[in-house]
Amino acid sequence: MQAQKQLSPKPIVVQVVLDKPLSQGFDYLWDAEKLGALPEIGHLVEVPFGRAISIGLVIKVSAHSDYEIDKLKQVRQLAPLPALDPALLRLMNFASQYYIHSLGETILPSIPQMWKKTGEWEKIPNKLAVLENKKNKPQIVGDGFISEDQLNPDQKNALKVLINEAANKKCFRVILLQGQTGSGKTAVFLNWLSSILVDPCAQILLLVPEINLTPQLERRIKAYFPDKVMAVLHSGVSEKKRGIAWYEAMTGKAQIILGTRLAALTPMPNLRAVVVDEEHDSSYKQQEGTRYSARDLAIWRAHDQSIPILLSSATPSLETWLAAKSGRYEYVRLDQRAQGARLPRVHLINTRDPQNQFSPGDVGASKQKSLVSKTLAHAISKNLAAKKQCLILINRRGYAPVLSCSACNWLSKCTHCSAYMVLHKAGALGKRSILSCHHCGLVKPIPNFCPECGNADLKTLGHGTQKLEDAIEEMWPEARVLRVDTDSSKKNKGAEALFQKIHDGNVDIVVGTQMIAKGHDYQNIGLVAVLDADGRLYSADFRAAERLFAQLIQVAGRAGRAEVSGQNGGDIYIETQYPEAAVYQYLLRHDVDGFLAYTANEREEAKLPPFSYQALVHAEAKNLDKAIQFLTELKSSLKIKGVITKQLKVYDPVPKTVMRVAGSERAQLVIESDNRKLLQEALEAIDQQLRQDSQGRISKASRIRWLIERDPIAI
Ligand SMILES: [Zn+2]
Ligand SMILES: [Zn+2]
Repeated sequence: MQAQKQLSPKPIVVQVVLDKPLSQGFDYLWDAEKLGALPEIGHLVEVPFGRAISIGLVIKVSAHSDYEIDKLKQVRQLAPLPALDPALLRLMNFASQYYIHSLGETILPSIPQMWKKTGEWEKIPNKLAVLENKKNKPQIVGDGFISEDQLNPDQKNALKVLINEAANKKCFRVILLQGQTGSGKTAVFLNWLSSILVDPCAQILLLVPEINLTPQLERRIKAYFPDKVMAVLHSGVSEKKRGIAWYEAMTGKAQIILGTRLAALTPMPNLRAVVVDEEHDSSYKQQEGTRYSARDLAIWRAHDQSIPILLSSATPSLETWLAAKSGRYEYVRLDQRAQGARLPRVHLINTRDPQNQFSPGDVGASKQKSLVSKTLAHAISKNLAAKKQCLILINRRGYAPVLSCSACNWLSKCTHCSAYMVLHKAGALGKRSILSCHHCGLVKPIPNFCPECGNADLKTLGHGTQKLEDAIEEMWPEARVLRVDTDSSKKNKGAEALFQKIHDGNVDIVVGTQMIAKGHDYQNIGLVAVLDADGRLYSADFRAAERLFAQLIQVAGRAGRAEVSGQNGGDIYIETQYPEAAVYQYLLRHDVDGFLAYTANEREEAKLPPFSYQALVHAEAKNLDKAIQFLTELKSSLKIKGVITKQLKVYDPVPKTVMRVAGSERAQLVIESDNRKLLQEALEAIDQQLRQDSQGRISKASRIRWLIERDPIAI
């Protein structure tokens, strides 16, 4: 053995990164004969690490090491995969630097589990061969094709701008396609993508915010591209399916990659264009691990690879809208509703006005009727009489948000979190009624007596989807009522089955959370009602109003979608105590640009994003004081080091909105600057400083778990 080693001309050393919060890679020896290939950057490998075996990615190949060559361990196995392409590795490098996470922590979680089970590696080539021979598997049936000729003049114009001469050259463009719900944005970008997929090798990436949007869109894409292989990537796809879809994307076999945010990190060697649908949606932000924005990374990737990217929305994010306004992005508008449907009429119901409420003397007013105002109840009855469907939204699942004791004021607080446990009625999550914490998942039986004083009279406070469903069923006993929220969709084999019921007209009133509002093409909704919008109107989070507005516009778009020109465009009712609020006033006029201009002004005055850039340092400890102290010390040391300047502001540490979760108490430090580069440098310095005294991201001295987050979407 020794003799052989001395004979070999030059050792091959590879540097490998692992899914660990370690800033450096590790050197290993590569035995080309044993592994059956020479190493390449981007190879997935199995290596010994400490006492365990780990999966890693080769990021460097050389003949040298800073360590003694003889002491280096050997790469054990090479995955049966081609190396990840250089463009993807550039993207990963950027994401790792920008979001202050190690390269390994950024790359490895993006690789599907199937490819990280090293015990299976030997069997994979066989499995793939079998799959290749099984050609005639059942296909998705295409539906919803609209050819270029069938587009309305507005859509045709938009398409013409997209397919201009520049499109034939390889160049970077960001295009905002803004058009109200129902204006036919999808038909425009699918026709645009057709023009790109004329190239027989081209790959395109289509990002969507939610899992439950994809089945409908999948059928639509199939109708446009019946012969192309499509890879569908989201967390709802089974591990094996996802592993194969990812493989088909990385080998260029799949030419259409459709998925949620995680799809933005898929290797696609022939990527030619990207579409980000509903670009404003907050679900593009990853909220654990490397906290990236899939939209922002997609833009970076398009820039890096000199390809076009189209951002589509009825209510663009302020960042995107301002960039389009200023000419940094191309701006394409679609202001006509496709098929000539009219905009719905918006009605604000002032719940402070007694006129709108049931009074005790009203005939037939049941005790539950107070959940819906009189004005809305009348409108619902009228809509039902016209044989139209109603959509009623309340953004809280469960029966009631709190259980309380009328004698001693005991409340159903979670023992691990600073949040209340939500009451879920029997049949929703289990056979019995339960209390469930939506933050940590703790489930408890409903107490028969107050745990504090023994009183048997326990009452619910407030209401969620289940309680509303009960109330609606009581008020309209003839109507067929369906509840749609994450609880009911779990029970019914996914949301798609529930949506199908609505499409088929087997439902009169739909009660649900915002998940019903997203992207579905309902054909017969005459009335949409929103009951708890105010809850999100005045929030500590400065983006709350922007999100509420986007959601209301989207919800409004569900009403009267398929109406024929000249007919009723549907109605949307919003119950509010503050009808004068800007969000509602702009909504009344369907004035998206007005609202965005108003919001831009507000943000500019307050120097909030996008007029400044933000980052958070999160700290988590057994008790809040320790977390705050940790951040206070960090802030003082930054001051001493001169990191804090006029251009870089560090606020005082504060507890998070939900301070206690699953037994940990959480605080945060907000860092803000109008200079991106300064912020980046500061974050890198903070990362370096914290790492010195930490094991991974846990401080050695105080056992505080910390994390840096760039561009947070909620403060
Ligand atoms: Zn009590
Ligand atoms: Zn909890």
